[in-house]
Amino acid sequence: MVVQTQRDEATWFKCEECGLMFDDQDDARKHEDNCDAEEPSYIQ
Ligand SMILES: [Zn+2]
Repeated sequence: MVVQTQRDEATWFKCEECGLMFDDQDDARKHEDNCDAEEPSYIQ
């Protein structure tokens, strides 16, 4: 899922699956659709 976050007085959109940050919400959502980090490594 995409979460909104503040950094350096700017709004960023972060993919919670892999941690990638985007400055555009549409870009973040498009990435999320294709994100292959569906199995976080911390889940064993
Ligand atoms: Zn991702």
